[in-house]
Amino acid sequence: MLADSVRDLALRLDAADALPAYVYDLAALAAHAAAIRAALPRPVEFYYAVKANPDARVLRTLAGHTDGLEVSSGGERAFAMTAVPGCRVAFGGPGKTSAELARAVEAGTHRFHVESPHELRMLASAASAAGRTADVLLRVNPASAGSGQSAALVMGGRPSPFGMDAALLDACADELAWLDPGCLRLRGLHAHMASGLGADDLLACARGLLGFGRDWCARRGVREPEFNLGGGMAVDYRRPDSVFDWARYGRGLAELACPGETLRIEPGRAVTAYCGWYLSRVLDVKRNHGEEFAVIAGGTHHLRTPAAKGHDQPFAIIAVPSWSHDWTRPSAGPGLITICGQLCTPRDILASRASVSRLCAGDLVAFGLAGAYAWNISHHSFLMHPGPTFHYL
Ligand SMILES: *Cc1c(COP(=O)(O)O)cnc(C)c1O
Repeated sequence: MLADSVRDLALRLDAADALPAYVYDLAALAAHAAAIRAALPRPVEFYYAVKANPDARVLRTLAGHTDGLEVSSGGERAFAMTAVPGCRVAFGGPGKTSAELARAVEAGTHRFHVESPHELRMLASAASAAGRTADVLLRVNPASAGSGQSAALVMGGRPSPFGMDAALLDACADELAWLDPGCLRLRGLHAHMASGLGADDLLACARGLLGFGRDWCARRGVREPEFNLGGGMAVDYRRPDSVFDWARYGRGLAELACPGETLRIEPGRAVTAYCGWYLSRVLDVKRNHGEEFAVIAGGTHHLRTPAAKGHDQPFAIIAVPSWSHDWTRPSAGPGLITICGQLCTPRDILASRASVSRLCAGDLVAFGLAGAYAWNISHHSFLMHPGPTFHYL
C-alpha cells in the first residue's frame, strides 16, 4: 500500500528533521481523478467539493480532470477562484451572508445553491445591485433520502439545517415568480443527502431526487433542468484497498440520465483521501497497565480524522535501524499497540490496539487516507506543538 516514493521521502524528511509532514501524491491524485472521470458517462459533470481538501496544488491538479469546484463558504469561494483562475464554481453551504453573496456575484460564480427563501432574496438583491443574473439551484432536503440510513452522516430526509422541504421549495418558487427575472435564473435542484454511501445506495438517492425533481421542475416551468446529486461516496478506512465502485455508479447514472437535462456530482472525500499521507516518527514506546503504547510526534491536532470519525487510521511502519542513544531502545511487538499523539488528552489516538510485528522508538509511521478531511479539519494550535511540513510528489 505504501509507495516507494512516499517511503523514500519519509526517510529523507526524518534525516532532515522535517517530520511530522504531510505528503500529497499529486501524480496519484491525477490518475485517480482521471479514472473517476472515465467511469462517468460524458454528459455527467464532475465537480470537486473543496472542503474535503482545499490545498491549492490539489485544486490545480484536479482542475484538469473535473468540470468545476463546489465551495461551501465565501472563504472557500474566494480561495478557489484565486488558486484556479477561470474555474467554474458552485457556491453552496448554509449561512451565506449578504456580503459573501455580493462578492460571489461580482466574481462571476457559475451556480448558487440556495438554502432558504431568505437567502434567495439576499441573492436577488445582490444580483440586482450588480446588474447581473445569478444562476440558482435550490437545495432540497427530500422527504426520503433513499436507503441512506446506512450512511455515516445523514443530512437529508429528516429535520436538519440543510436544504429545504417541499413547502420551503414552493415558497422559493412563488418568490421567484415575483422577483425580477433578470436577476435570478432557476436552473434546477441540488441535494447532498448523506456521506459514506456505496454506489447502489447513492444511485437510490439519485433516483429519489430525480423522481421528485423532474416533476417539480416541470410544474415550475424549469426547462432543461440541472440536478446536482451531491457527494458522499464512501471511503472505507478499515479496508483502504476497497475503493468506491465508480464504474458501477457511472453505469447507473447512464441509465438514469435523460436527454435535455444536466446531471452533476460533487464528491470530496473519495476524490482526495487516497493521495494524502501523514508521516511521523515514534518518540516513545512503553507498556502501561499491561498494554503497549507508542507516542508519535504530532497527533490528532494534525490528523483529526480518526478522532472525528471514530476509526483507526490505517498506517504502515517504516523501520529505522539506527539508534543513537546508549541505552536500550524502547520497543514493542509482535502484538497489539495503541498509537497516540503528543496531546494531553486520552482522545489523541490515531490507531487503537493495532497489530504490529515490531515498533520501536525512532521508527517512522506513515498514515494513509490522509488526503481528505485531515489537516484542514484539525485543531492546529491546541498545545502549541510545531506544525507539519508539506510536500508534493
Ligand atoms: C461535504 C459536501 C460534499 C462532499 O461530500 P463528501 O462526503 O466529501 O463526498 C458535497 N456537497 C455538499 C453540499 C457538501 O456539504
